[in-house]
Amino acid sequence: MSRTRSAAAHVVVVGGGLAGLSAAVACTDAGARVTLLEGRPRFGGATWSFERKGLAFDNGQHVYLRCCTAYRRFLARLGTEADAPLQERLELPVIAPSASGPVTAWIRRGRLPAPLHLLPSLLAYRHLPIADRLRLGAAVRALLALRAGDPLDQETFGSFLARHGQRQSAISGLFDLITLPTVNVRSDEASLSLGAKVFRTGILGEADAADLGWARVPLSRLHVDPAVALLERAGATVRRKAKVEKLEVSSMTGELPAVLVDGERLEADALVLAVPHEAAAELLPPGGAVEPSALRGLGNSPIIDVHLVYDRKVLDHPVAAGLRSPVQFVFDRTQAAGLDPSEGQCLAVSVSGADAEQGERPEVLIERYQGALAELLPAARSARVVDAVVSREHAATFRGVPGTARLRPGPESGFTNVFLAGSWTDTGWPATMEGAVRSGVVASSFALHAVGTHRGVPELPEGVVA
Ligand SMILES: Cc1cc2nc3c(=O)[nH]c(=O)nc-3n(C[C@H](O)[C@H](O)[C@H](O)COP(=O)(O)OP(=O)(O)OC[C@H]3O[C@@H](n4cnc5c(N)ncnc54)[C@H](O)[C@@H]3O)c2cc1C
Repeated sequence: MSRTRSAAAHVVVVGGGLAGLSAAVACTDAGARVTLLEGRPRFGGATWSFERKGLAFDNGQHVYLRCCTAYRRFLARLGTEADAPLQERLELPVIAPSASGPVTAWIRRGRLPAPLHLLPSLLAYRHLPIADRLRLGAAVRALLALRAGDPLDQETFGSFLARHGQRQSAISGLFDLITLPTVNVRSDEASLSLGAKVFRTGILGEADAADLGWARVPLSRLHVDPAVALLERAGATVRRKAKVEKLEVSSMTGELPAVLVDGERLEADALVLAVPHEAAAELLPPGGAVEPSALRGLGNSPIIDVHLVYDRKVLDHPVAAGLRSPVQFVFDRTQAAGLDPSEGQCLAVSVSGADAEQGERPEVLIERYQGALAELLPAARSARVVDAVVSREHAATFRGVPGTARLRPGPESGFTNVFLAGSWTDTGWPATMEGAVRSGVVASSFALHAVGTHRGVPELPEGVVA
């Protein structure tokens, strides 16, 4: 498959989300001539920002963890790491309503080494009965005992937890706090392989793995615009509104891959297809290694965000989780929105696995989440909401249920010099920014190997074997 070409081998990247942007940056860094084609008028894919009444909002609150090494390295390459700082130590207030007022318990990283670093805060986690807290050790031991090769994708994370002594109160009161925003379905639906990945890598592996990070600027300014600017500076061709209509490839003849865009045929030495799984199913011609029906089988899971601008400060924490409340997570977005804190506070309530909410009218959702916030945040009861808007992503991620692991292809498409990227590919991670960037870096390294680019291939993400 390897073909020796000049340093200016042409790599076409289709799709300008994080996978495509990171693939394009890696190929440009390696000295390839890059064309990045994005179908929409904007780059960023599932991470984008919009303006409303002078404030900036993201389509959805995006969070990463300290263990997201590929995404962090991408931000470092763009020079924007400081715009999405990590907590010094994981610190998350979890607030539940009660008849006598809201009750807060904290999930905090303590000083003990992993996997004991959360132990003191979990023993004090007052949202669970003491019996549930004492049983958590059984689940931790079982998670740590899992081995590669165990049939992890055949049962749900919830049933695994139940088999290891966890009651429903602990699954919904603690485990779902983490499973839902990462796998985008509840533990009772999530594949054990994805739940285990999140908990083993993101919580239990290293004491600092779960320190949270998120953008203090709009996502467009954090990683979308800087990546596009970097590519343009480096001489790459970046095209918006360039929806690829057709892929012309051959697994038999070794012909160069080509794409049809706006009726124009664009030839590449190598091609990285970094579109969502359903678009890849449409574009990949028959005869490759990937079955389009398998990609469609990955399904979708929605996320909605309800953005509320209050006339004063109502949330005292940068982030809080809600329990026994429609609010899953709420973030203070005042700085990122560009709102002067003396004029009010901008909150984003993010709702993962939002099947029930995705079809509801915005005014219904705004009323529900405003009411739910008032139950959790006493100051919100007397504050005025001066603006509110709902953002919805019906296909935010693939649906990470049992059986999906075998549907996720690796970077190789089965066609000469055509490689796959996207957070839905087989990264081992759920559909996340980390997964998207990892897939982009891995696909670009395959593409660069294939065209024999001289300046070397990108450093592979941790845990990826070449
Ligand atoms: C609301 C929301 C909240 C999220 N929260 C988090 C979070 O907190 N933490 C986290 O890590 N992850 C989160 N995610 C998931 C994360 O954003 C995605 O997994 C990741 O951004 C996907 O990147 P991607 O490049 O694989 O795909 P995409 O971002 O979907 O990019 C694919 C691109 O391909 C383009 N395209 C499609 N067809 C064509 C074509 N024919 N020609 C040219 N271009 C085409 C699309 O327009 C798109 O820009 C969230 C996602 C959403 C939607």
